[in-house]
This record gives sequence, C-alpha cells and structure tokens, in this order.
Amino acid sequence: MKYIFVSGGVISGIGKGISTASVALLLKSAGYKVAPLKIDPYLNVDAGTMNPVHHGEVFVLDDGSETDQDLGNYERFLGEPLNKTNYATSGQVYLSVIQRERSLGYNGDCVEAVPHIPEEIIKRINEAGKSHNADIVIIEIGGTVGEMQNVFIFEANRILKMKKPNDVLHIHLSYLPIPPSLGEMKSKPVQMSVKELNSMGIQPDILLARSGVPVDEIRRKKLALFCSLPPEDIISAPDVKNIYEVPINYEDEGLSARILKKLKLKRKHKDLVQWRDFENKIVSAKKVVKIGIVGKYFTTGDFTLADSYISVIEALKHASYNQNLKPEITWIDSGKLLEDIKQLKNYQGIIVPGGFGSRDIDGKIEAIKYCRENKIPYFGLCYGMQLACVEYARNVLGLKSANTTEIDPKTKYPVIHIMPDQEKKLLLKNYGGTMRLGAWDCLLKKGSLARKLYDTFGKLSAGTDQISERHRHRYEFNNEFLEKFLDSGLKISGTSPDGKLVEIVELSDHPFFIGTQFHPELKSRPLGPHPLFMGFVKEANKINLGA
Ligand code: GLN
Repeated sequence: MKYIFVSGGVISGIGKGISTASVALLLKSAGYKVAPLKIDPYLNVDAGTMNPVHHGEVFVLDDGSETDQDLGNYERFLGEPLNKTNYATSGQVYLSVIQRERSLGYNGDCVEAVPHIPEEIIKRINEAGKSHNADIVIIEIGGTVGEMQNVFIFEANRILKMKKPNDVLHIHLSYLPIPPSLGEMKSKPVQMSVKELNSMGIQPDILLARSGVPVDEIRRKKLALFCSLPPEDIISAPDVKNIYEVPINYEDEGLSARILKKLKLKRKHKDLVQWRDFENKIVSAKKVVKIGIVGKYFTTGDFTLADSYISVIEALKHASYNQNLKPEITWIDSGKLLEDIKQLKNYQGIIVPGGFGSRDIDGKIEAIKYCRENKIPYFGLCYGMQLACVEYARNVLGLKSANTTEIDPKTKYPVIHIMPDQEKKLLLKNYGGTMRLGAWDCLLKKGSLARKLYDTFGKLSAGTDQISERHRHRYEFNNEFLEKFLDSGLKISGTSPDGKLVEIVELSDHPFFIGTQFHPELKSRPLGPHPLFMGFVKEANKINLGA
C-alpha cells in the first residue's frame, strides 16, 4: 500500500478537501484503487454534535457515520460510497488509546502521546486502505500547518515515512497572497509553512501553489529553491470558476504524472473523459433556473450558509448542468421571510432543507404554504418534509394548532412526533450518534411521481420498487393522522419496507410538491445526479417568471 498525506499551509479555506478529492480522482482515473481518509484534529468524536454554523454540513454515510463535509467532496469526486474508516478525529483516536489502556491493552506499558497516538492514527490509515482494498490511501490532515492540535497527525506521517521511505508522499497545499497594495504575488508565507513542516521532520514532495492566478516562472523558481524541490514539483493551482475544474487543472499541470513517478507506479489507463464532459456542460450552460433555499443557518454570513447546505447546492448543480441549465441559487432567510412572502414569486422552485429546533420555523411554513397554493415547485428535505406535513395539517385539514413535537411537545395535533426509541435517548442526554442515521431502504408506491422519477432517471434496479437513501433525524410522521392526510389528497409515495415509516410525501394536484424524510442530496453526484433533484429542476425550468 502507498500513502499520500495532504496538508495545508498559510490559511485555511483554500480547498484542501477539494484538492484531496481531486488527487483521489486522478489516481483512480490512472487505474488505482484509492481510499481517502480525513483526519480532523478536533476532540469531538464525530461531526454530529456540532452546529452547522460553526462546522458546516454534517455529511452522513451509508453506515450512519456523521462526518465532515469533505467526505461529501470525496464521494462526489470518486463516485463511490465511503464508510466509517474514511473519517477519523483526534477525539476518536484518543478515546481508542485510553480505552485500550483501561483494558490493559498496552500490557502495563506507560502510555505516551508519542508513539501511542501516532500508532493509533497509522492503524486507522491502514484500516481505511484495507476496507477499500486500496493501492493508495490519501490522508487529508485537518487544519493548517503550525497549529498545535494536529501535530500528532504530522507525527504519524513522519513515523510512517521512516518505516516505509519509498511508499509515503507528502503534498502541501499552500497559499501565495497578492496584497492589493503591492500587486505582486508573494511567496514568503509558503516558504514559512514549508519551514514549519520541515521542523516536524517532513519534507513535502509536491507543492500545490494556490493563488488568485497561476504562479509565474520567477515565483516557481524561488519556491523550488527555498522549499528544496525541483521546479516541476511546484504545481500551479489558481482560483477556478467551479470546483469541478480543479482535477482537470491538476491533470493538465501534470500532477498525477508526478505522483505516479515518485511512487514508482505505472499509469494503467487514462480516463477523465466523463469528468471533462461534465465540466463542458457547466461551462456551456446558459439558460438560468432560479431556485430559492429557505434556511436559517445564516449567522456568519453567506459563506457559512453555503457550507451548511453544501450537498443541497451541489445536488442542484448536478441536476441543472446535466439538463444544460445554469442554477441561480438564492438564500432566503426564514427569519425575515414573513416581512415579504411575495418575494417567493421570483423563484421557479423552492427548497426547505434539513434543520433542527424552533427558530424561524414560521417563515419556512409560510414558504411551503405559498408554494403549495401558487403551484411553485417545492422540494422539502427532511425537516422540509416534516414542516410540509404540519403546513398541510394546519391549512388544508383544518387542524389549526398542528405541529411537530420538536417545537410544541404538547400540541393537540402532533402530526410529526418523536420516534419511540429516540425519546429514551434524549432523556438520558445521549445525543452523539443516536439519531436515525445512515441508509435505509424505502419502498416506492406504484403510480407516484417519486417512483416515476426514480425510474426515469435510472436509480431503480429492474423489477424493484426499492431505493436506499440516507437519514438523519429523530422525529417522524405520526401514523395516527395517516387516514386524514390520505383522504384529503396528500399522498404517501414512499415508506419503509414494513410500511411503518413514512419516507416520502407528495401532492398530486401540483406540478412538483415532494417532501422526503431522507436526505437525497447526500447521494447526488456530478456523474450521477439524483432523480428527485432532476425532476425538481425539470419542473422548475417550466415555470415562466415573466418579465
Ligand atoms: N429536526 C428534525 C428531526 O430531528 C429534522 C432533522 C433534519 O432535517 N435532518 O427529525
């Protein structure tokens, strides 16, 4: 097995996750089996307990792991499902070491930060590789060089390299600023971050030089000299218009060729054809489709918002570009929506994505009502499905005080209520990793729009009505109200195979009104757009907004 570590320098947010995903894609395209692994330095055992405003989206895997959003990038780029071995945190690592110590797993040795913490990290790296039968494990080191909390991950890198000098590479992604007052690209911060790496006993093998524009020859030579690298190992990584261009840019810059040469591996085949096709679709899409996302995770501005709902945004892009449409996505703050609900007429489709708690819920419910009454395509994802049921109960079934017990535990009409096994967990404050998580089968109803879409856009295996989608929730549709809903026209178009859990609802007298208890966005890929997003965008495109 070969190992590639990817670290970041100078500043965060320059695309380390996308770069790691791109390296994985390029090596897969060269014919190798790869396993990406994100190691986050924080002490949380997983991302599930973190507020999306601070951490971004929680990406759920088939096996129910609640992971960092970078796992979403890996899956979208590789087009393969990942599992719990592809994500680790310092919290998990320390927990394992301490639990092993408590059960005498170290045979009476003094347990020390080094070597025991890096050894546990290396063990996990090998597990990720084995789990995917990988030729190459690509390890993304969370955080930036120079932080205290990720030093043991670098230490694991140093020790592994010492043991297997020919099998370990280090790629450093670093940033060259262009201060406006100077108007010139500066290389010193990168030199400093490489120096910092060197002080931990690590010499990078390849430098990805991130900047607003491509690195010029002068800077390349300077970096080569001061970072002890041949100039061809400095790969230019300028800003690009969309993330799907990154692997193409790296490939054209010769990145995979350099990696393969250093690892003494031969290219088995060359295949970025479909990826380039998708990129061409992005570039050539002209006709705009306007989608509004009604959300609440706004606190620190648009940047956070995009991070909180990254899979929804990407799923919209996949569905749009694959229909030669250009999505124009607008954030609608559910906290302010009630001031002007009519603004929704400016959109061809509205999404209410996943969420928790009672803040700004009225705006979301009004948005759903507006879409239902005005026949604007509506797509509700998890909370967006639950609130669609609440809205329907209140305004169509006449159950005025209907609610989800998440908001009003004493409501007379609990159309959404807590799942029985969840109640105990909450009482015990047992929050981490205890929701209904991961992929569950769902049976589609014959004749429903949902079934038609899964069939048309190719996710139903022949002869079945079964799909598998990812979940993350504690509440569910209350079957006591089932008859009332069915009698008045809200269809249940998907349930768990035993028929007990409502998974999809839809309205038939509406061009597109679908709510899913699961998160379809987590399974959308650029080369495999999600059927329900395809249907949603297709209908949205038919809406004429007029002048
Ligand atoms: N808060 C809701 C629940 O726990 C919905 C969760 C979600 O949207 N992911 O059931």
